[in-house]
Amino acid sequence: MSFLTELEAWPAERVRACIEAATVDDVDRAIAREERTPHDLCALLSTAALERLEPMAQEAHRLTRRHFGRVIKMYVPIYISNVCGADCTYCGYAVRSGNKEKRLTLTEAETRRECEVLAAQGFQSLLLLTGEARQAVPPGQIADAVSIAHEYFPSVSIEVYSLSEDDYRLMVDRGLEGVTLYMETYDKATYEKVHLKGEKMDYLFRLDALDRAGRAGARRLGVGALLGLFDSHIDAFWTAMHARYLQRTCWQSEVSISFPRLQHTPERFSIPRLVSNQDLVQLMLASRLFLPEAGITISTRERPPFRDRLIPLGVTMMSAGSSTRPGGYATHGEDTLEQFEVEDTRTPAEVAAAIRSFGYEPVWKDYDYGFAGVAGTGSIS
Ligand code: SF4
Repeated sequence: MSFLTELEAWPAERVRACIEAATVDDVDRAIAREERTPHDLCALLSTAALERLEPMAQEAHRLTRRHFGRVIKMYVPIYISNVCGADCTYCGYAVRSGNKEKRLTLTEAETRRECEVLAAQGFQSLLLLTGEARQAVPPGQIADAVSIAHEYFPSVSIEVYSLSEDDYRLMVDRGLEGVTLYMETYDKATYEKVHLKGEKMDYLFRLDALDRAGRAGARRLGVGALLGLFDSHIDAFWTAMHARYLQRTCWQSEVSISFPRLQHTPERFSIPRLVSNQDLVQLMLASRLFLPEAGITISTRERPPFRDRLIPLGVTMMSAGSSTRPGGYATHGEDTLEQFEVEDTRTPAEVAAAIRSFGYEPVWKDYDYGFAGVAGTGSIS
């Protein structure tokens, strides 16, 4: 079983035709329905839906309140390495990006130091990231970093290169809770055009990675497309379908969606399909209506006022105080290469205050352990 079967049933031409055929009546019917079909999702992603963004926002707000209450989970990323052997043309870490300097992988002691500093700021949820560097940072080393991080954070997730099921299991055994892995774009031709080197060129191995993570016991699975590489509305359709597929096949895992939008890219790359704020809002609302129980993450790639405006529309997770440099919090400062510039540079306390100002509660502790009955280092607030 692979998501590929569903993807092949919905090629780009079919999705585009379905989106273009949608009328305002189709949108109204999609908003009114209890459970929404892929055709409803197309209607919600259509130009016709732009006339109905307000009722879509109200429905998204209602569904999010019903399934998640008024809480937003806070998390922070640690880049444990910026070494990368892949050549993704849009990324500053790429091996052929021209950025040869300032590459490094954190030692265990440095990883520990970064964890200490972030845990002292109140974070209880951590995301560990690397480039694609199986030789420089092999799976066993990522597993060691998971073990270290788990001493400080009840909830540890990874966003690294695609792993085998055994490697994911190794990490789950060391305390890993979640795996985030963006397909970047589901459009195979575009995928092949922007991924020029490394294991990441294997489209199918990446597409099926979250299935393997789910089978290995990861309790949180995160999907997303890097918006701007291809038609963002079509990629959003496929992303939502992928999330729904994972909800069904990995039913013991919680599935979430992210909407990373390309904004800063290396000089050699210009963004093929710019994504506006209105586009992003529509994609998020359509995804929320199609998947009422999926988490929605908005990272520090977005500017503060825009991020804040998204809070009541369906967001359930936000990063704060992020650095995209290895050792960027405590050990190396700005001496290492960053993956991309963050737009929201507020401190974690400032982001938490903004969340509160919208009547939501920033959640630092991992409240899920109580419900899941899983032993963890965190207590239930
Ligand atoms: S997107 Fe990931 S795999 Fe690709 S070049 Fe950047 S760090 Fe490497």
